[in-house]
Parts: sequence; C-alpha cells; structure tokens
Amino acid sequence: MAALVYRVPPDGKLELATIDPKGNGKLDRASAETELEALTSEIDELQELLYGAGTHSLLVIVQGIDTSGKDGTVRKVFNKVSPLGSYVHSFKVPTEEELGHDFLWRVHRVTPQRGMIGIFNRSHYEDVLVVRVHNLVPETVWRKRYRMINDFEHLLAASNTIILKFFLHISKEEQAERLLAREKETSKAWKLSAGDWREREHWEDYMAAYTEALERCSTAYAPWIIVPADRKWYRNYAVAKTVVETLRPYKDDWLAYLGKVGEQRLAELRAYRGEGVTG
Ligand code: ADP
Repeated sequence: MAALVYRVPPDGKLELATIDPKGNGKLDRASAETELEALTSEIDELQELLYGAGTHSLLVIVQGIDTSGKDGTVRKVFNKVSPLGSYVHSFKVPTEEELGHDFLWRVHRVTPQRGMIGIFNRSHYEDVLVVRVHNLVPETVWRKRYRMINDFEHLLAASNTIILKFFLHISKEEQAERLLAREKETSKAWKLSAGDWREREHWEDYMAAYTEALERCSTAYAPWIIVPADRKWYRNYAVAKTVVETLRPYKDDWLAYLGKVGEQRLAELRAYRGEGVTG
C-alpha cells in the first residue's frame, strides 16, 4: 500500500476486503515509534494554536469492530494533548432519555466547541452499525440516517469543525488472537466479555454495515479514513500522522492571527502604561 491510510472517495464503491489490515506502509516499527513521539508532541502544539486562534475545532471519530483498538489509539495518539484543550466521549448503549430524542441529539451536545479537540470513541455511526446488525429499528428508519448524518456533519464543518473519521481495520484472525490473549493474560481479563464472541458471529453483517456507512458518508468535508490496524504501532503512527497533516495547513493562519492579537494586546498594555502615547 503506497499511501499510509486509505481515504474513502466520496460517492465511491468500497471493497473492504481489498484493503490489507496488516498494511505497514513499508515502515519499520522502530522508526514509526520514534516518529510517533514527534507527532504526538506536534498534535499538542497544534492544539494550543487551535485554542489560541479560537476559530476552529477538531472532531476525531474513532470506529472499529470490538478489539480493533479504539481505546488504545486514543491513548497513544492524544497522550500529550493538554486536558485543558481536549476530551474524549465514549458512546454507550443509549439511555432511555437519549432514546426519547432523535439519534443525533446526544451527539450534537458533545461536539467540540472552537479551540477544542473532541474525540468520539464510537459515535452516531453506531446508529447505522450495531442498530442495523441487530435490527434495533426497522431498515426504513436507519436507511434514512446516512443522509441525516451527512447533513449533520455538513453543519458542523460549515461551522469550522475539522472532521476526521477513522475506521480501524483489523482482520478476523487478529480479532480472535486479541480475544484469546485476554483469556490467557490475567492482566487483560478485565476486558473480557462473552458478548464480544457473540458479536463476532455477526462479523460479515458488521463488515457490510461498515462498508455502506463508509461509502455513503465519506465526504470532502468529513472523510472516512481506513487505517490498517492489525499492527498497533502502525495504526498509532498512521492516525497521528493523519491528524498532524490535517491540522498543519491551518498553522500559518493561526500563527498570523495570534501574532496580530499579540500586537494588539501589547499596544493596549502600552497605552495603559502611558507609553508611546502622545498628548
Ligand atoms: P466499548 O466501546 O469499550 O466496547 P462498551 O463495552 O460499554 O464500550 O460498549 C458500548 C456498547 O454500546 C457497544 O456494544 C455499542 O455497540 C453500544 N452502542 C453504542 N451506541 C449505540 C447505539 N446508538 N445503539 C445501540 N447500541 C449502541
């Protein structure tokens, strides 16, 4: 695979099976891990500028099948970002109150305000994934949601939210290994859930649901990015690199804006002290 990650083209067809979950971008582990350190520091620096400029927010959505490494990705990629400027929201089975509203109600209220990085561990996509696989609502209901999701994300993007949606792509064999590892290592056993094995029986249904969600909801303003995720070091590197490459183009504008604000503040301070003011 030449590119680090696979960006799902808007309105394109997607063959998930043709994307190798073991892809490593021809990188070796040691250099990817070294570079990850620099990238995570850069994410922190960029977040500070994002906050200072206050013009944009960043929404990072992390999705993937059980054991695909959603928690680990968040931990490793955003571990240097200031808690002042970022937060993670994990979406669980909806509460009664949440179910009493439209499916985007609980999502919209936790989107990041300008200056912040908001990370979604699972997201509104569950409403076309688990909901579809388990027939939690009729197809006529969930099918309309792709359009609603695109409209919702368009609203966010038009309000200066930079959106990145990562699908952590693991193989079925890797999932089995990770589930078995949890049984073998007592330190990992707390993560065990019989439900994970039950969900695994729906693997094909999940892949079909993911394929359609990624096909229908990858847009220029909120792209779906497929990350080969069988190798954790590669997954972390690829996500961090994508975040940095997405934010870097804004850096000059943010710096210029902050430079102007800084000059203005200094001028105000000088005026207050009576320096440089004539008459
Ligand atoms: P984790 O994300 O670490 O697996 P949990 O074990 O608490 O955390 O799993 C959260 C569960 O909530 C998942 O099984 C997920 O499918 C479910 N869930 C999230 N959103 C929805 C939704 N909109 N409708 C139904 N189930 C959902």
